[in-house]
Amino acid sequence: MKPRKKKTSRKRPCLNDLIGECHSIARSKGWWEDERNDGELIALMHSELSEALEAMRARGSKDNIAEELADCCIRIFDFCGAREIDLEKILVKKIEYNKTRPYRHGKKF
Ligand SMILES: [Mg+2]
Repeated sequence: MKPRKKKTSRKRPCLNDLIGECHSIARSKGWWEDERNDGELIALMHSELSEALEAMRARGSKDNIAEELADCCIRIFDFCGAREIDLEKILVKKIEYNKTRPYRHGKKF
């Protein structure tokens, strides 16, 4: 049996740092020179998920699919940065809540 690695104290991921960085880059590239429409920004998040689906349909590699998922995260992070949404706080809260939910959340599918 392989010896277990000693658990090291992992730093909690600092999602808000990534949010700040994504939004800063988007600003520096001119994406926020004018006020942006929330509906359009949400649609652009969807577009990245559609690209992930197309990568799957085209039998793309895991890296191809992951790149599109990363693009979606970047758009979400940029949005949260612009709108000063504390995604990290709410994400942790939702994860903890999901632990308390029933099997399959009590749903059929
Ligand atoms: Mg993309």
